[in-house]
Amino acid sequence: MPSGQDQEKAWGSERALVSRREPLYPTGKSTSPSVCLRVCRMSRCSTPGKRQVVVTGVTARREIKAAYGGVFALSWRAREMDMKYRRLGKAGLQVSELSFGSWLTFGPQLDVDHVKKLMRQAFEAGVNFFDNAEAYAKGQSEELMGIALADYRREDLVVSSKIFWGGSGPNDEGLSWKHLMEGTNNALARLRVEYVDLLFCHRPDPNTPIEETVRAMDVIVRQGKAFYWGTSEWSAEQIEEAHRIAREHGCIPPAMEQPQYNMLVRERFEQEYAPLYERYGMGTTIWSPLASGILTGKYNDGVPSDSRLARESWLQAHLSAERVAKVRRLQEVASDAGCTMSQLAIAWCLRNEHVSTVILGASSSEQLDENLGSAEVLEALTDDVMARIDGILAN
Ligand code: NDP
Repeated sequence: MPSGQDQEKAWGSERALVSRREPLYPTGKSTSPSVCLRVCRMSRCSTPGKRQVVVTGVTARREIKAAYGGVFALSWRAREMDMKYRRLGKAGLQVSELSFGSWLTFGPQLDVDHVKKLMRQAFEAGVNFFDNAEAYAKGQSEELMGIALADYRREDLVVSSKIFWGGSGPNDEGLSWKHLMEGTNNALARLRVEYVDLLFCHRPDPNTPIEETVRAMDVIVRQGKAFYWGTSEWSAEQIEEAHRIAREHGCIPPAMEQPQYNMLVRERFEQEYAPLYERYGMGTTIWSPLASGILTGKYNDGVPSDSRLARESWLQAHLSAERVAKVRRLQEVASDAGCTMSQLAIAWCLRNEHVSTVILGASSSEQLDENLGSAEVLEALTDDVMARIDGILAN
């Protein structure tokens, strides 16, 4: 236990200062290696002779409270200091390497208070990018995020939406000029913002010429309704086509893609898109880093009734004995690396230099806390560990 002399409590501020050099929190007391790692991390402090211990996360706070007593614990509300920011491909925009998305959670699982709480938690950990789409919870997800966004300085945030599935009418769907314009205007109204930073064409549209889509997105960007436009789950060939058309007509080309990328789904990101990173400086905001939770290990012994795959049974098609067997073996790697399975899976995504940001999904503060700790295990993913993972994945 740190003595009173060892500590200097910064009441009312977000930091606590200590003069001890050794880890503040004894390793043996933590039930979770990641919590221990986070509690013990020290960074430079502006006060001479003092060290600053940065503590984040509800789990860590809860454990410190148990170890050091409630009064002391109250001062440990620090803002994460070491979130890293990556350029969105060759664009000048900086996005936090971990970001936060709202699919299937904002609305169906999280009400406005929880949305606010989790967004605050992510923001305080350094997350600046929040992802959304007109399709999510039929617009309710954007509405909830819009309420939460009012608490922030717009300049501190990178906000996205995606257009494709806007409703059931014949012109509510797809990438026609009409739906792109109307869908964007509706998304901005729900999000209560004048512009989104990133606007994605949520899927390729076989019923609209790519030229029409490129021209409409060019106009949307020039109108200042979006700063960068991009694609989501387009083939490399379709993205190439969009660039060719943009070049030919003097239009603004797409800057980024939003593909699925995780340990179980990697072929398109790593193989098919490979030439595009160099050729166009394409940025990426990758989705489902945990394959909807399969990579947490929570489905190893069946489908828990309070889980995503129980609520969205169509996603169970992605759960197979082969995948579960891989996750079981990966859990041994995680254990050796001193992290959780979720953290290993997310850090593995971060290890790829073509990833601009990993969009996290979380239905609770505890999950978000755990997932935000992923960047800290990155250094444990040495070439040898990556090779061991590759051997298990065999994909
Ligand atoms: P994940 O693959 O990380 O899945 C997130 C879900 O897994 C959570 O909602 C939770 O579900 C479970 N989970 C997460 N962390 C933990 C944990 N530590 N322990 C246990 N369970 C956990 O991400 P998403 O599929 O949500 O994708 C992330 C974001 O990407 C989305 O929010 C969206 O913004 C974007 N996206 C984009 C798509 C596109 O087409 N462009 C498609 C899909 C997503 P539960 O607790 O309910 O079981």
